[in-house]
Amino acid sequence: MYDLTILGAGVSGAAIAWQAARYQLSVCVLEKENDIACGTTKANSAIIHAGYDPLPGTLMAKLNVRGNAMVEDMSQKLDFPFKRVGSLILAFNDDNLRMVHTLYERGVQNGVPGLQILSPQEVWEREPAVTRDCVGALYAPSAGIVMPWRMAQSMADCAALNGVEFRLNAEVTGVSRGEEGITLTLQNGETVQSRYVVNATGVDAWHVRSMIAPPPYTMKPSRGEYFLLDKAVGDTVHSVIFQCPTEVGKGVLVSPTADGNLIVGPNAEPVSSSQETGTTAEGLAFVQRMARLSVPSVSFRDNIRNFAGVRANTNIDDFIIEEVPELSGFIDCAGIKSPGLSSAPAIGEYVMELLEKAGLTLTEKETFIDSLPHRVRVRELSPAQRAEVIAKNPLYGRVICRCETITEGEIVDALHSPIPPCSIDGVKRRCGAGMGRCQGGFCGPRVHEIIARELGIPMQQIPQDRKGMYIITGETKTEG
Ligand SMILES: Cc1cc2nc3c(=O)[nH]c(=O)nc-3n(C[C@H](O)[C@H](O)[C@H](O)COP(=O)(O)OP(=O)(O)OC[C@H]3O[C@@H](n4cnc5c(N)ncnc54)[C@H](O)[C@@H]3O)c2cc1C
Repeated sequence: MYDLTILGAGVSGAAIAWQAARYQLSVCVLEKENDIACGTTKANSAIIHAGYDPLPGTLMAKLNVRGNAMVEDMSQKLDFPFKRVGSLILAFNDDNLRMVHTLYERGVQNGVPGLQILSPQEVWEREPAVTRDCVGALYAPSAGIVMPWRMAQSMADCAALNGVEFRLNAEVTGVSRGEEGITLTLQNGETVQSRYVVNATGVDAWHVRSMIAPPPYTMKPSRGEYFLLDKAVGDTVHSVIFQCPTEVGKGVLVSPTADGNLIVGPNAEPVSSSQETGTTAEGLAFVQRMARLSVPSVSFRDNIRNFAGVRANTNIDDFIIEEVPELSGFIDCAGIKSPGLSSAPAIGEYVMELLEKAGLTLTEKETFIDSLPHRVRVRELSPAQRAEVIAKNPLYGRVICRCETITEGEIVDALHSPIPPCSIDGVKRRCGAGMGRCQGGFCGPRVHEIIARELGIPMQQIPQDRKGMYIITGETKTEG
């Protein structure tokens, strides 16, 4: 019997676990995939929004602004990349300019610091690559860029260090009232008992809540497709360049990433499930066309990867975070669409408040470890620092991923993190091996061998990413 069980280990579930880890509670996280952050958290624009977009008075407005204010300190303590680069919403005509003024007013009401409306000249001084068709812009200095999966992993790692149990490959297929508390049934037939449960299953939250009773909202998932461009063109723009938002999304953006690439996207295409993460020729062509309206010089020839993520949109224009009336102790955390990433740390705090109101006693631990050790990142070190780390551990001197200069030592560190990866892409999301121009074409087989050696598992059991995506199925030649 756990005090609290969190369903889903995306950025929302990780943030709730990180907050819950501060208290004297037994906490478990159940995640259906083989790693943290495998849902929408790994495929989005990676922007920590300033908070001018949500309507004043909504949960989204409150949690976005609070989450944004929390991220910088967290990134230092939990060792994940975050840069406060600011954002611009471009106006191309009078209607857009009116929208820019509306967003400015909204932002002021929501408590967003430092907003300014810029003239076209001021825009071009900041961002020379922006189109000459720009007639003004809203500038939000508090917006930032982050590595979303690293943010989720860091919170999850911190939670695990503080005693939270993470159970991967644990899909919840049933929820019912137990004799005491709530009974969760897993796909393999096992059951888990918990006094309180939080449903943070992203696009699948409707499905999980409907295991209890019909949810009072409907899901309207929508897919967004992206280009990720090579670091050679990562400085095309220096801040996040948005267009005016519409009913279906925040428009196509052009932005640097926290790792130095350029990201361009997304479109908004209705889909029926969380699994529809393929890209389409039409979707990508639309993204190209729209992006060139903002930044005509974007060099799509430098594309190294396309990907898509699915938004957890519902018919309600807000996050839905509430105790489910039909099952006391069960908190639904649904409709966590954009700005869900920006809001996640504050969602964690808010869910703890709801759990306390629902009767969970929160007594702070005397020994909460609030920071993670800083990892070695060889490419960021000076020659003298490199020599020092290599003298202590020669594996830091052996470069495995040449595009990103990631060493064997960094891969081994990732494989011994509090929640270790078990796939090649899991290693990529932790230390960056395979993130570069060749996308793992050269280093993938070496990473494969290192995972097998470090975790002591046969290569046939190591997937590229999700369970079942195996690369090697068996040996074709054996000795003798
Ligand atoms: C195109 C796009 C662009 C976006 N851009 C931004 C942005 O720039 N800034 C921003 O703030 N937000 C952005 N967002 C929103 C943000 O990405 C999401 O709000 C956030 O990632 C949601 O995280 P989550 O943890 O709620 O969901 P997820 O990351 O989807 O996590 C849910 C987890 O639950 C697991 N799960 C599902 N069903 C079960 C089950 N039955 N049992 C156990 N586990 C289960 C899944 O495997 C998954 O790991 C964007 C979203 C999209 C799609």
